Amino acid sequence: MRQFDYYQPKNFAEAFELLLLPGKVVMPLAGTTDIIPMAREERIAPDVVVDIKSLPGMREIKETEDGLLIGAAVRMSELASSPLVREYAAVLAEGAATVGHVQVRNRATLGGNMCTASPAGDTFPALLVLEAEALLRSVDGERSVPVSEFFQGPRRTALKKGELLVGVMLPKLAGAQGHYAKLSRRKAADLTLVGVAALAVPAGKGYDWRLALGAVAPTPVRVPEAEKILAQGYDATAIEKAALAAHAACSPLDDIRSSAEYRREMVVNITQRVIGQVIEKLV
Ligand SMILES: Cc1cc2nc3c(=O)[nH]c(=O)nc-3n(C[C@H](O)[C@H](O)[C@H](O)COP(=O)(O)OP(=O)(O)OC[C@H]3O[C@@H](n4cnc5c(N)ncnc54)[C@H](O)[C@@H]3O)c2cc1C
Repeated sequence: MRQFDYYQPKNFAEAFELLLLPGKVVMPLAGTTDIIPMAREERIAPDVVVDIKSLPGMREIKETEDGLLIGAAVRMSELASSPLVREYAAVLAEGAATVGHVQVRNRATLGGNMCTASPAGDTFPALLVLEAEALLRSVDGERSVPVSEFFQGPRRTALKKGELLVGVMLPKLAGAQGHYAKLSRRKAADLTLVGVAALAVPAGKGYDWRLALGAVAPTPVRVPEAEKILAQGYDATAIEKAALAAHAACSPLDDIRSSAEYRREMVVNITQRVIGQVIEKLV
C-alpha cells in the first residue's frame, strides 16, 4: 500500500483547507472499513487522508424540531442500539445491524457507507423509505439533498470536490412501522445480494406504504407501483402484486456472487417476507 499523510482536524475550517490542498489526492476518512481495503488493493491512492470523526457534531444523534439528526460519523453499532433511532427509524437500525460483523459495525460509519455508494450498501433502502435528507457542507456553506438524489450510481454521489457529508436528517413519522431484510450467501460479513426495506406510515384510516430495494440496480430504488398497490390494501393478493412490481423495478447484473436471474427471483421472496413482517407490526 502506498504511504499517505494522515490529519485529524478539530474544526471544519481546518478540514476544508486540507480537503482542498492543491495538487494532492485528498480523501476524507471515517471508520476505514472501505478506504483501507481499497488502498491496499491499489484501487485508490490518496496522498492525504483527513479523519473527519472528531469534527463537531459528526458523532451525534439528536432530536431537533425538523426530525432526527444523525451525524455522518455515527457507527453502525451505535445506530443499531440507539433508543432514538429505534424509536423513530427502527428500519434504519435494522439495516445497520446487518452490516458485516460486529468488528466491522464497531468501526463502519453511516457517512462512510453512504459515500462509498456501493449498490449493496445496507443502510440505503431504509434511508430511502424514511425519505432522509443528506446534509452536505463545504467552504461555500451547507446544502441538503434528498437521499434519492445523493446516490447517483455505483461509487458516485452528489458530493462535490472538497465537500463533506455531515449527517442525515430523518423526518419524524409518528406511528410508522418498517422492516429491513437482506439476502446474502453467508449469514455474516457477506455483501448483500438483495436488500428490501418497507415502511407503513399512518395516513387517514390506512397507511401510505414505501418500498425500496438495494443491490439490484446501480443505485437503491423506490418501487412506486408496489407502494400504490399496498396503499389500497395489503391482503395476500396485494402483497403478491407488490412483490411482482418490485421484480419489474429491479435491473440487477450477473456478478461473481450471483446471477441476475437469481437476484430477481429473490426480490419477489424477500419483498413478500418484508411486507409480511411490517403487517405483523401493524396489528
Ligand atoms: C468484512 C467487511 C464486511 C462488510 N459488510 C458490509 C455489509 O454487509 N453491508 C454494507 O453496507 N457494507 C459492508 N461493508 C462495507 C463497509 O463496512 C461500509 O461501507 C462502511 O459503512 C463504510 O464506512 P467507513 O466509516 O468505514 O468508511 P471509510 O472507509 O472511512 O470511508 C469510505 C469512503 O467514504 C468517504 N467518506 C467517509 N466519510 C465521509 C464523509 N463524512 N464525507 C465525505 N466522504 C466520506 C471516504 O473518503 C471513502 O471514500 C463491509 C466491509 C468489510 C471490510
